[in-house]
Amino acid sequence: MNEVLNKPIQYVKGVGPKRANTLKKINIFTVGELLYHFPREFEDRTSICSANALEHGQTATVLGKVVHAREIKPRPKMTIIKLTIDDGHGVFSAVWFNQRYIVKQYPPGTTLLVTGKVDKSYRGETQLHVNDCEMVRKPDQAKRGGRIVPIYPLTEGISQKYIRVVMENALKEAELLDEFIPEAILTKYRLPGLKQAIKFIHQPQSDDDIKQAQRRFIFEELFLLQLALVKRKSRTKIYLKNHKYNCGDGENVKRLLALLPFKPTTDQEKVWQEIRQDLESPYPMNRLLEGDVGSGKTLVSAMMLAKAVDSGLQGALMAPTEILSEQHYLGLTKWLEPLGINIALLTSSIKKSQREKILQDIQQGKIDVVIGTHALIQDTINFKQLGAMVVDEQHRFGVKQRLALQSKGNQPDVLVMTATPIPRTLSLTVYGDLDISIIYTLPPGRKPVRTYHVTERAINDVYRLIHKEVKKGRQAYIVCPLVEESETLDVQAAVDLAEQLSKKVLTDLQVGLLHGRMKAEDKENVMGSFRSGSIDVMVSTTVIEVGVDVPNATVMVILDANRFGLAQLHQLRGRVGRGENQSFCILVADPKNEEGKQRMTAMVNSTDGFTLAEEDLRLRGPGEFFGVRQSGLPEFKMANIIRDRRAMECARQEAEAIMEGDPKLQLPENRALAKQLKTKFKENENFLYIG
Ligand code: ADP
Ligand code: MG
Repeated sequence: MNEVLNKPIQYVKGVGPKRANTLKKINIFTVGELLYHFPREFEDRTSICSANALEHGQTATVLGKVVHAREIKPRPKMTIIKLTIDDGHGVFSAVWFNQRYIVKQYPPGTTLLVTGKVDKSYRGETQLHVNDCEMVRKPDQAKRGGRIVPIYPLTEGISQKYIRVVMENALKEAELLDEFIPEAILTKYRLPGLKQAIKFIHQPQSDDDIKQAQRRFIFEELFLLQLALVKRKSRTKIYLKNHKYNCGDGENVKRLLALLPFKPTTDQEKVWQEIRQDLESPYPMNRLLEGDVGSGKTLVSAMMLAKAVDSGLQGALMAPTEILSEQHYLGLTKWLEPLGINIALLTSSIKKSQREKILQDIQQGKIDVVIGTHALIQDTINFKQLGAMVVDEQHRFGVKQRLALQSKGNQPDVLVMTATPIPRTLSLTVYGDLDISIIYTLPPGRKPVRTYHVTERAINDVYRLIHKEVKKGRQAYIVCPLVEESETLDVQAAVDLAEQLSKKVLTDLQVGLLHGRMKAEDKENVMGSFRSGSIDVMVSTTVIEVGVDVPNATVMVILDANRFGLAQLHQLRGRVGRGENQSFCILVADPKNEEGKQRMTAMVNSTDGFTLAEEDLRLRGPGEFFGVRQSGLPEFKMANIIRDRRAMECARQEAEAIMEGDPKLQLPENRALAKQLKTKFKENENFLYIG
């Protein structure tokens, strides 16, 4: 067993209490953590230079004999040590600063392998500023020449030399390590075993050794993570829920569909089947519904709520903002009230007495479906019999909050909806514990939004377009620049712009204003006026980002668009193109850098959220992508979700196969794996539910 991995670092020869404390600063507490402290790069000293071929500025390794030693003191407190070295082809000076022990350590006659930067600027002398030096004792070592030297991430008080020595001692302990990845998997992907990979990474003999080891550790990292996620996912299949749904669509869903002015799309049907099956299963549902903006996720959630009520259960829908809660309330009321379903809206602007009545009605089961923001629903409500829980716009909602939600009450069936398409590799990690349903196609008859990128100089053309559209009876949004550092500045910019527009440029139009600092009641009023058409142009900060649905709006102007990420731009654009009329999205931006230009081009060229998500991931990297960082996922040491997406898929497959055959990892052949999993995620136990 790999007990040695968990032993404290002092167990390794050469590590005393003081050094152990220093190593803790770089998160090395155990032998295992030391062995998994991988080099950040490698210096290739396998090729040895001739002293007569050294070029100024190059980093080189030379093998030669010390013929002379000197100490020079150019000024107090500074000593330069120069060893004259002859390699049979030529002579040069190896130079150290303030390391006087060198003279004693390497007396004339010593054979040295020195590596450093060549400097020929000093009086025609060839100098080598040494950063690494090894004494060569055995002739065969000399013949083999140098080697590939690992360069480790360090902290103060720990030198490369020290860590290499300690690592060498730790590697002796590694001899005892057992493999924990099943043999069949190693063979299938041609990965080196654990012991070998550890040796390869710390003492490589060739570039190929390094590559092999890296492949192994990348796979290992992804495989353990996927195992943990699959394990956590299967955990939801352990507890039975204590509510039950009637079988089939039920009266409510049938009547809802009959009353709709349109038919569900094939994707909506397919997704509904998946959800229905989950609801009717004895285990709580844990499903993510992914679909581009406007793909019709709301209908699917309405069907789920309708089915819950049909079965005598209650439903809840949580949205990230009050505006969205209100909008969902309006939409769902239109669909569900005709079925005799009682719906309530909870916002912070509802008066206290009324609020208490609503809470009481929910508790007594007089209200079937409640809609509100996360905060409102999570903290204050007691349900009589909650069955279905819908969470809209997931990406504002981290893994941790999701966990809090699931632990509330009687294991409701949870459907999380996101309009932010997530590249598959990323969803395997961020949502690796959820089942996923995807709506790929938009309802028929939608005209893709025409997107243009213009510079500030063309702003008057943009206002002309707004005029033209409003004359046709349409409406427009203008989204103001985002000033990250200060919401106050954001708001001021929006206020100023709205005033300027209504006084100067759009004098004949009704201009409204919406921003995050307004009272909930005022926001609702303004949105109401926009919805009813009495406001033509809505100037706003990004509060309208998600979910706002006013089909009559056909123009989306985004000022300083280069300040937004692709995902956010796509979200904003999704506010238009929701009706039959041709819509426009105008990105006003003078991007200064290449990445900004690429984002604008991507937006103009694609209206597909999945394509844009991939592009966004490529341009910004996974760290910046929708707060992956806040999602509570462990950070990778070697793997990179973008580069290693194929390895991630393989790791997922293998993890699923293993958990399928041995859900609790109890079989003898999986015991080592179970142990390793525990070691790896010991600090993340809550997140990963290991054990
Ligand atoms: P999102 O997935 O972004 O939440 P919505 O649910 O708001 O999208 O749907 C966008 C619009 O499309 C709504 O006005 C909705 O009524 C309409 N819609 C939904 N499903 C269909 C369908 N099958 N056919 C036509 N229109 C639909
Ligand atoms: Mg929506």
